[in-house]
Amino acid sequence: MTFPDGQPTGSFAGPFDADVEDPKGSDASAQRGRPAGGEGGAAPAAAAGAGPDLPPGPLDQAAVLDLYLAAGALRRGHFALSSGRHSDTYLQSALVLQWPRLAEALGRALAEPFAGQVDVVAAAAVGGLLIGHEIARELGVRMVFAERAGGVMRLRRSFALRAGERALLAEDVVTTGGSAGEVADLVSVAGAAPVGLAAIVDRRPSPAGGPLSAVALARVAAAAWDPADCPLCQAGDAPESPGSRRLDGHPP
Ligand SMILES: [Zn+2]
Repeated sequence: MTFPDGQPTGSFAGPFDADVEDPKGSDASAQRGRPAGGEGGAAPAAAAGAGPDLPPGPLDQAAVLDLYLAAGALRRGHFALSSGRHSDTYLQSALVLQWPRLAEALGRALAEPFAGQVDVVAAAAVGGLLIGHEIARELGVRMVFAERAGGVMRLRRSFALRAGERALLAEDVVTTGGSAGEVADLVSVAGAAPVGLAAIVDRRPSPAGGPLSAVALARVAAAAWDPADCPLCQAGDAPESPGSRRLDGHPP
């Protein structure tokens, strides 16, 4: 699969710009992958800082990947991830979810298969907060989140689950399924029942893995290696660390 250039226009001001800097310096706003589809004038709105256009059709794989590309939230190259691993793919859902209308639409699409089957949405902070809340809004249920403290995932803030509640887990991107599994364990310990996992993007090499059935709007093939095994490093390339840019705009 090839990905068209789809970087943001550069008209955004503020810290997000540092993370979406296009090393090729392209002016790809005119080449975005998916046309606005009959809504003339939408592209100029994006150029003015309103964010990527929502596609007119369903939020299927192609539409979601176009949104991510347009927001600079999906890039190909050589990246040092915050986990310490190196990858040929960088995904940063916050660059899509910073636009509430996009978050709302993605949440609605993810909620649809679970309508009437969920009593509460549970997610791990920080990645699952925005999309989990939007899914819960659409389902008309509450949303609780777990936080990692001292290496242990916990429900804090007096959040409580009741025995028998049906809990939908939510994540922005499923990388290994590990965080969702930890939240599922918390849910189970509380006596509630995990009923599934909803994610915008599934980047696991084997999506079928894991104890929970997962619904994802898009799947992305992404390689990841321990730095010592990274073929891109071995080829002499230096990785970018897009997730660790300092917010004051100065390089670390
Ligand atoms: Zn590397």
